[in-house]
Amino acid sequence: MSTNKKTKIVATLGPACSTREIIKDMIDAGVNVFRVNFSHADYADVKEKIKIIRGLNDEFGYTTAILGDLQGPKLRVGVMQDGVVVNDGDLITFTTAEDIIGTAQKVFMKYKNFPNDVNPGERILLDDGKLIFEIVETDKKTEVLAKVIQGGELKSKKGVNLPNTKISLPAMTEKDIADAIFAIEQNLDWIALSFVKTPKDLQDLQELIAKHSDHKIPIVAKIEMPEALENIDRIVAYCDALMVARGDLGVELPAHEVPLVQKELIRRAKTARIPVIVATQMMETMITSLTPTRAEVNDVANSVMDGADAVMLSGETATGNYPVQVIEKMTQIIEAVEDSPLIQVPQNTPQVRTNRFITKSICHHAAQMANVIKAKAICTLTNSGYTAFQISAWRPSAHILVFTSNKRILTQLNLLWGVKSFYYEKSVSTDDTVTDVNEIARLKGFVKKGEFLINLAAMPITDKGMVNTLRVSEIE
Ligand code: PGA
Ligand code: MN
Repeated sequence: MSTNKKTKIVATLGPACSTREIIKDMIDAGVNVFRVNFSHADYADVKEKIKIIRGLNDEFGYTTAILGDLQGPKLRVGVMQDGVVVNDGDLITFTTAEDIIGTAQKVFMKYKNFPNDVNPGERILLDDGKLIFEIVETDKKTEVLAKVIQGGELKSKKGVNLPNTKISLPAMTEKDIADAIFAIEQNLDWIALSFVKTPKDLQDLQELIAKHSDHKIPIVAKIEMPEALENIDRIVAYCDALMVARGDLGVELPAHEVPLVQKELIRRAKTARIPVIVATQMMETMITSLTPTRAEVNDVANSVMDGADAVMLSGETATGNYPVQVIEKMTQIIEAVEDSPLIQVPQNTPQVRTNRFITKSICHHAAQMANVIKAKAICTLTNSGYTAFQISAWRPSAHILVFTSNKRILTQLNLLWGVKSFYYEKSVSTDDTVTDVNEIARLKGFVKKGEFLINLAAMPITDKGMVNTLRVSEIE
């Protein structure tokens, strides 16, 4: 199965997709971006996966991107004895003193300042909110006593959320800094930052990238904290993409508030013309079953209807039983809805005359014109990828074909809705380039004889400047 769908799929790497065969099948079924989840990543293993993905890209001409997702200040409990169950009303101690094996009486909390940050009456949510505790007392040093409000099985290394507590951890922990440097050294295409609260968190990561990399690496801001929602206007200005991180968001906020927040975040991202990924529990039952629930099918479809550029899978592909089948199903759902005229993303025309005004206007009008004249493709030549972001944001019906000699953005742009990129290094005359790329578009099956295609170019071509020219071709 091969697909030309426009909505992108991000799939998390893990033990379930360790072989070259499975990874290739996942790409053929519709994966555009693989996510390295640094919460559970071993460097040697990640290097191996990167090698496989890039090897496949080289061999089969894929442009699969890799996203490095930094864990951020996520609190976790330590290793637990098997089968520990806590019941409503039980008392339990969280200790930071030593890394003990946890029991139903005492559990290790992997965050030194925890007893100092919390206060009686505040809630501790464990395992995405499956277990709930209320703090009874804290000695402000190493021990916190809590009462079980909602019991259940307490499993090893599960994540902890403190929705009522102001935690004093920085946005990037030492582990995140080491992971980010590793991601930069491995030339990953995108870096995601978890638990972003303020633009400063993003600036810190930008600075780290600037220090360790000779090129800009675009950043995904994961929106999973109430503070991020308060600062969303400024956050959007300091990142290159958003993720609606529903797993933690639905614990930090009441889960029933997430659907509207998702719609609002997508609207913000699309107004700023940056891509937005919807994540977590999209096809959860496919971890163990070949059939998604009706609710899951609707969730994926509705996320696309909301205007998501990409949908993400976590456990489904990292540890699930059906890493390939889940992608096939997701692709089917996407293809069934993504061309619906009911999908409306903001179409606010560029007004402010910044230095990119001409390029922005050309991209906007190329997208509009493509819809009016029913052009099948918009071809653009780019070195920075800027025009790909712009055209993609207008959601034209036409495919967006990007030609570049910049190997780095070839894969990076694969997160963008509707964008397909091709390596093209000749820099002859504009006439010859247009003839060339149109022929490639025809050979790849995006346009047929008699159909229209729009070309964007920067003239004169020798200046390697910004796009300033729009041309319409009829394929001969
Ligand atoms: P995570 O992020 O899987 O890294 O926690 C996504 C989410 O919180 O939804
Ligand atoms: Mn999260």
